[in-house]
Amino acid sequence: MTGPVLDHLGEVKLELGPARDATRQKGWRAARDDDDVVWLLLDVAGSDTNTVSRDVIEGLSDQLDQIGNNPPACVVIRSAKLSGFAAGADIEMLSDMTDPEEAEALLRQGHDVLDRLEALDCPTVAVVHGAALGAGFEIALACDRIIATDGAHFAFPEVNLGLHPGLGGTFRLSERIDTLEAMTLMLTGKSAHTVKAMKLGIADQVVEERHVANAVKAACAGKLKDERPGLSDRAMSMAAARGIAARRMRASAGGRAPREHYPAPYALIDLWEEHHGDRSAMQNGEIGSFARLLASDTARELIRVFHLRQRLKSDAAGDDAIGHVHVAGAGTMGGEIAAWCAIKGKRVTLFDPDPQAIGRALGRAAAICKDQHLSSIETRDALDRLIPDPGGDGVPAADLVIEAGPEDIAAKTTIHADLEAAMRPTAILATNTSSLPLNRLAEPLRRPSRFGGLHFFNPVAKMPLVEVVSHADTFSTVGDRLAAFCGAIGKLPARVAAAPGFLVNRALTPYLLESLVLLDEGLTKETVDNIAERFGMPMGPVELADRIGLDICLHVADSLAGQINKPLAEVPAWFREMVEEGDRLGRKSGKGLYTWDEGEPEKSAARPEPEDGWIDRLILPLLDACVECRRKGVASDADQIDAAMIFGAGFAPFRGGPMRYARMRGTAEIRDRLTALAREHGNRFAPDPGWDEMD
Ligand code: NAD
Repeated sequence: MTGPVLDHLGEVKLELGPARDATRQKGWRAARDDDDVVWLLLDVAGSDTNTVSRDVIEGLSDQLDQIGNNPPACVVIRSAKLSGFAAGADIEMLSDMTDPEEAEALLRQGHDVLDRLEALDCPTVAVVHGAALGAGFEIALACDRIIATDGAHFAFPEVNLGLHPGLGGTFRLSERIDTLEAMTLMLTGKSAHTVKAMKLGIADQVVEERHVANAVKAACAGKLKDERPGLSDRAMSMAAARGIAARRMRASAGGRAPREHYPAPYALIDLWEEHHGDRSAMQNGEIGSFARLLASDTARELIRVFHLRQRLKSDAAGDDAIGHVHVAGAGTMGGEIAAWCAIKGKRVTLFDPDPQAIGRALGRAAAICKDQHLSSIETRDALDRLIPDPGGDGVPAADLVIEAGPEDIAAKTTIHADLEAAMRPTAILATNTSSLPLNRLAEPLRRPSRFGGLHFFNPVAKMPLVEVVSHADTFSTVGDRLAAFCGAIGKLPARVAAAPGFLVNRALTPYLLESLVLLDEGLTKETVDNIAERFGMPMGPVELADRIGLDICLHVADSLAGQINKPLAEVPAWFREMVEEGDRLGRKSGKGLYTWDEGEPEKSAARPEPEDGWIDRLILPLLDACVECRRKGVASDADQIDAAMIFGAGFAPFRGGPMRYARMRGTAEIRDRLTALAREHGNRFAPDPGWDEMD
């Protein structure tokens, strides 16, 4: 073999063999080295990330033809992109595959190509850096050996699109590693990072990039040790044992996603239960099942949600030019915002008048690093970037100051004045307020045009959305930079106008308040939650209120009630008293509407069936508020509202968001239903005039 051929792409050097210099054909570069090893580099044109399209599969087929004509000693497959191996199937291609028969035919072609790769006489080696997802992972699985470099990760995220693996993953992963572990990965969509990938047996070896050439040499020579873990396959080859395991899997999937809303996990379990161990039946079953799922409403909506995510991401394009962030307030939100920014590479100073709050925030930052699977070096670097700043000395150097102090207009006004006096004139001031009027907060400022809202959601590390709020005088360039900042820290920005509750809290508050009214009418909390969960919400409104914090919910409700013209449901007196007593504020105090144990609510097993119509009491006020936000221009259009409500509030993704749901159900019907509810329960249900514009 020739000496290492390094490609100099910035600081990182990838071992790409001689194929680095070859011309690209249908997404592949190919060349043979002196040791008769063919290097196949996946390098899709026009993108920083490889996706697996029809073209890529055809390109691989062409390469296999050439390999067949002149068999090499070994074949190495890797990506030429710094970003990673491959991000999965090309979603545009999936969007176009609407006819199940055509989809099946196309899938068969793909399967044939990977079968040919797998059947090559010579050793085949996939070298994976970064992400190998979905169809990318399936290409790697069709190789004899997988070498992972540090930071590589493998996943089948298809389940998030209402699908399961469709290019041989269902059986190849099950054959390569313990079949129960394989099912867990496919059913949850979770990633196996290098150490886990090695432990599970996905990767045969983990090496640093500089050792790739030697590792490839050893793999091609058949010298890699076979250290696959003991498999539970023997047990699972018996139908009875599979039946028991499948029942357990269905029960576990049912806790997360009911079959009627999310058929994919169940289709995968059925497939596995019926055919595991019979490669050809698995293959045929996988193709048919994937094609059927692809045509389902759930997959169509989830693919649309993927596009909505891309749209928010594209709003975050551009250079934020923000190196140093100062966070004022190290409480629940400020602490997590600071930690997140540091993890994502920003230099952060963190101030709070209470030094203990800063100490607690640093402790939480370490825990977030762990949750995010950061290596010890990445954790050390992130924590080094997070600088406790009890004196507020970081303000003059900051490009962006995020205020996360108490939710009180007078307190925030004072904090803003002090910050602004010390800030550079070109720096941006952003508040994390949930419900205070931005226009009023802007009034006393010297530079209101450089002030806006960055409304993060709780918990910051888990919630993908940030509302980027502009008030009447915010410069559009400031909004652009705040949105780009969100992109730089891996969040999705929804650019909204300053209005009471912005978009997400404006829409969620009537929903949460109506759940209290239903409790007041005698429904149990489990029933109320069940109503929403049946609709497809990830959790019901009572549990959600407990998770947000009952004091915060009450504060937002009171604040909104004082700012909007439409009546909101009245907060029941018992709820107000409960919050005022202060020791039952929800999950954070261990008790709220539910009692909480280790972060989970204790729910009674008895869950009476919700009656038809109750769901409208909860969901229609939420929809109505979204329509109002659209009419008033708080959000730019219906798609943005759908995206914000899915990524900020968890609105049932398979329904495509509230506006999509309204359209699919019929806007005239909803308006009539709201009118009827208003007659029965009061004016809070009166339909917004915006419904008339939606016909
Ligand atoms: P919190 O009470 O946990 O934290 C507020 C922190 O501000 C405290 O640590 C306090 O010591 C500190 N503080 C007091 N005076 C200060 C000053 N002069 N300068 C800087 N800091 C000062 O509150 P929180 O839940 O973190 O909320 C902070 C902000 O974020 C509020 O505006 C809130 O509405 C908003 N928010 C909260 C949530 C949530 O779920 N908690 C979600 C979104 C937005």
